[in-house]
Amino acid sequence: MREDYKGYRDPAKAVLIKHNVRVWSEVEMRTTRGSFVGTILPRSETSDNKHIVIKLANGYNIGILSDTVEKIEEQSYKEAIYKIPEKEFPTDPKKPNITLLGTGGTIASRLDYRTGAVIPAFSPGELYGSVPELADYCNLSTEKLFGVFSENMGPVQWIRLAEAIGEAVENGVDGIVIGHGTDVMHHTAAILSFMVQDSPVPIVMVGSQRSSDRPSSDAALNLIHAVNTAGKSDIAEVVVSMFGPTSDQYGLLHRGTRVRKMHSSYRSTFRTIGDIPLAMVDREKITPLRSDYKKRRKDRNVKINTAFEEKVSIVYYYPNMQPDIIDSLIDNGYRGIVIAGTGLGHVNKPVYKALERAQKKGVAVYMTVQTLWGYVQMYVYETGRRLMELGVIPGANMLPEVAYVKLCWALGQTDDLDKVKEIMLTSIAGEITEREPYNGYLIYQGGIPEVEEFLRTIKR
Ligand code: ASP
Repeated sequence: MREDYKGYRDPAKAVLIKHNVRVWSEVEMRTTRGSFVGTILPRSETSDNKHIVIKLANGYNIGILSDTVEKIEEQSYKEAIYKIPEKEFPTDPKKPNITLLGTGGTIASRLDYRTGAVIPAFSPGELYGSVPELADYCNLSTEKLFGVFSENMGPVQWIRLAEAIGEAVENGVDGIVIGHGTDVMHHTAAILSFMVQDSPVPIVMVGSQRSSDRPSSDAALNLIHAVNTAGKSDIAEVVVSMFGPTSDQYGLLHRGTRVRKMHSSYRSTFRTIGDIPLAMVDREKITPLRSDYKKRRKDRNVKINTAFEEKVSIVYYYPNMQPDIIDSLIDNGYRGIVIAGTGLGHVNKPVYKALERAQKKGVAVYMTVQTLWGYVQMYVYETGRRLMELGVIPGANMLPEVAYVKLCWALGQTDDLDKVKEIMLTSIAGEITEREPYNGYLIYQGGIPEVEEFLRTIKR
């Protein structure tokens, strides 16, 4: 660490003091990597003390390593409104009652898209202060369950979330929105689809890919789409509501067991895999793309089943995988393994003996495919047949992450592997489908004549 300036054990702060500037100073900063003009931002809970974060005129925030700073000149100083104004959320008896359950993620930590401040917002008043349009759709109550980035979600949080959904349904809400980090939103959507059975109302998961202090943020619009869906739609399932195209034309509603985050930074990151999405949503309406979904009901008969076995793993096969990978899971007491295999569902021969051992020890092993689209088909090649003899069970077209959480849920309910198999291979929430429609599969490969032709037709 560089020499602390005036005794500060905080290099970034030391640099600010040395150059006589503060948070909210508008500055020109000369560094060994070039000059930057922008506003110095408060440090967020996730940044370290070596970087100074400035907001550039184009809205992007960049972190500048304090060691590289040569000179900072203050051009002006304008303190931002750092607190979201709390406005009382209006109540209108004609509007649906929505409960927003917060778990964390970008959408919860930076919701003030008007002021650009980096602060958590969660009470209904704060949400209303930052996205006033929400009051056009619903009466809102909020409950902050956790404040975590989604990689920290796990059985404890999933069980609490399922219970909170059960309570909200029993309390008579018309719809539930769950604010969640996008990274593992599809795992949570899947496990909730199993833990919460027969919900009479929509359960809508929402997040944002870009924080709300950026002009391109999807936070506010995703939230508006989510409350619109929760209040108005007749889809009483766990759905993910996020940007459809990269532009803000409309959002898509994806079934909780068929959705996956597919891009690390695009706002249109969530895609329905092996099927078509349930519906399109915009500020006014919800347009169903299919009709085979569970419909909204008036009763309150939701069933919550939070069974969960933690000793389950997912193994992504790679060429030259050695049997010790499987052996170590067996030795560590794992009761279930989901393999994401190659092609139709294969692994190499050296792994067979470890699978045989898993079978003898009563470990439940299920096969899924790395290709994501398509079915496991283990009758086609000799490899597949041999794997089935070793007790590996084909998981149809369940996505690997979905098969993983389902196996945790199934093994949480029973030790009887036949019963586990029955649960695994019975489609409970659309996780296994009879066929995958051809128009569910679409990957843009620019430059190829038929894709260019297709793009021309939609751009016309
Ligand atoms: N890493 C964050 C999370 O998943 C990203 C987000 O919120 O979208 O919690």
